[in-house]
Amino acid sequence: MSASGPSTADVRSGYTEHQQEQYAKYLKKLKTEFESRWCKNRQYEVSFADFQRIKTLGTGAFGRVVLLKHTSANKFYAMKILEKEKIVKMKQIDHTLYEKRILEAIRFPFTVSMEFFFKDNSYIYFVMPFVTGGEMFTHLRRLGKFDESTSKFYASQVILALEYLHFNNLVYRDLKPENILIENNGYLKITDFGFCKVVQGRTWTLCGTPEYLAPELILSKGYGFSVDWWSFGVLVYEMNAGYPPFYANEPMKTYEKIVAAKYRCPSSFNADLRDFLRNTLQVDLSKRFGVMKNGVLDFKNHKWLASIEWDAILNCRCLPPFVPKLKNPGDTSNFDRYEEETIHHASRCRYESEFIDF
Ligand code: AMP
Repeated sequence: MSASGPSTADVRSGYTEHQQEQYAKYLKKLKTEFESRWCKNRQYEVSFADFQRIKTLGTGAFGRVVLLKHTSANKFYAMKILEKEKIVKMKQIDHTLYEKRILEAIRFPFTVSMEFFFKDNSYIYFVMPFVTGGEMFTHLRRLGKFDESTSKFYASQVILALEYLHFNNLVYRDLKPENILIENNGYLKITDFGFCKVVQGRTWTLCGTPEYLAPELILSKGYGFSVDWWSFGVLVYEMNAGYPPFYANEPMKTYEKIVAAKYRCPSSFNADLRDFLRNTLQVDLSKRFGVMKNGVLDFKNHKWLASIEWDAILNCRCLPPFVPKLKNPGDTSNFDRYEEETIHHASRCRYESEFIDF
């Protein structure tokens, strides 16, 4: 997986344009692979009966994610179960089709991807590798906040993941600690591609999570990849502070603070971190890191991330700050408990035409 080129010594003295060009070659190769998977609509010979359901790992607006074991392969998976009826009623067919195609097409060290897909009379199912360490959200709340080197370690992976997605013309639109999972090697996997979309130019849909929404999205201005970099700024703030930069009891008040970029840094934030945030939580798009002439290089070369060895991060060669404890391969102790729900399979196929492309 090495992007090849940069030696450790080069990386230590800053990430040069030459290194970024080398890395872009690696991204181009990944893009070709992405495009070939994007065009295929693969069908898998699997059904719900092949799995033993174990426990709910998380819930979302249209369904839940459960841990299961593939009985004959003796392997654990996380399965997202989406109810067709809910998707139709909430007018989410297009988003869900995107989610399916995106999960099938992406392959990057810091994003989840799909192993199998299938549907039946009532549900559609995305089967993904089980990411054992639970949500960043849980660990962040448990610790209160992350120390700076932990935040930098995670921030660097999120930068690489967003860079990969944007390179493939995908805007993610839902970055937040709940959607970032920790793998058993201590590295990250971004999950939930329910709002992710191919964008060429601009898009207008209002979606995401209030505290993480970018000003241009709130103001219905039409937006592109810039919204992910804003959310990334919110994430970096929250990892370091333990709470988000823009918060109020009502969403409208939160939005007012966001569009005015009104936030205060705790006294523990040093000058480099403050400067990093000033350039990321930047309302003026001509000044926001990530979408200026130098693109992602502005992040990679910022003083706050000077200690990051980008090639070593990509190849998971840096010592992680924390490795989740796991008693066995199907251990769910890193996840919250959820009430289990019975799955009702209809006797005839529901919404067949709506889900024909799935
Ligand atoms: P989602 O509906 O995609 O946001 O998923 C809801 C929750 O399920 C997430 O926040 C995670 O806690 C959990 N989850 C999703 N995908 C996985 C996975 N591949 N492995 C483990 N847990 C997952």
